[in-house]
Amino acid sequence: MISDRTIRVGAVVDDTVAEGPGRRFAVWVQGCSIRCPGCFNPHLWGAKGGTGIGAAELAERALAVPGIDGVTLLGGEPFEQARPLADFASRLAAQGLSVMTFSGFTYRELNGAGAPDGAAELLSATDLLVSGPYLSGQPDLRRPWVGSTNQEFHFLTDRLRHVEAGLADLPDRIEVRVTASGEVTVNGWADLDQLDTLLADDFRRRNRPA
Ligand code: SF4
Repeated sequence: MISDRTIRVGAVVDDTVAEGPGRRFAVWVQGCSIRCPGCFNPHLWGAKGGTGIGAAELAERALAVPGIDGVTLLGGEPFEQARPLADFASRLAAQGLSVMTFSGFTYRELNGAGAPDGAAELLSATDLLVSGPYLSGQPDLRRPWVGSTNQEFHFLTDRLRHVEAGLADLPDRIEVRVTASGEVTVNGWADLDQLDTLLADDFRRRNRPA
């Protein structure tokens, strides 16, 4: 049953070091109406796909992962599901975990009169917000986790503020997972040429004649 506490989830990685500081439980939500040209996740644009998971159930799954430092919300557009995600994030924050949220909306849009429903709740459950649409013509090769230079970091609480001073020194990372059946998934961020090379090498290795 879909309720106002249900999150439409496109994908989850339980434990990653490529989506924010430290080890994080990452949730890619399903649905984004912003539709930036060049977006890497167009399969997450449609609001009708994904799997509906209750905020409490997803929080239980995150809290069962040993040793994580926090959760990262990305997408898709988290602020188009702000209320259930605020519920989810608050449950983790109450257990001492940090919350990092990505948005294609600008900080001004999230705080203005036309802000998405529930935006204030998700902002108040977020420690570190990365805001702004992806602009493919302005690639950011300097800061970690972001795709374009217009995107802004907002440290909304002190919980992750220690990251701020060393931001430019943190590397981008990508993680490649290969399942037993050979399915390859990639998350994180890297220079496009590096990603092409890596995936081409991986493809060649897996298809090398015996
Ligand atoms: S806001 Fe994010 S998910 Fe939405 S189109 Fe832009 S880059 Fe893609």
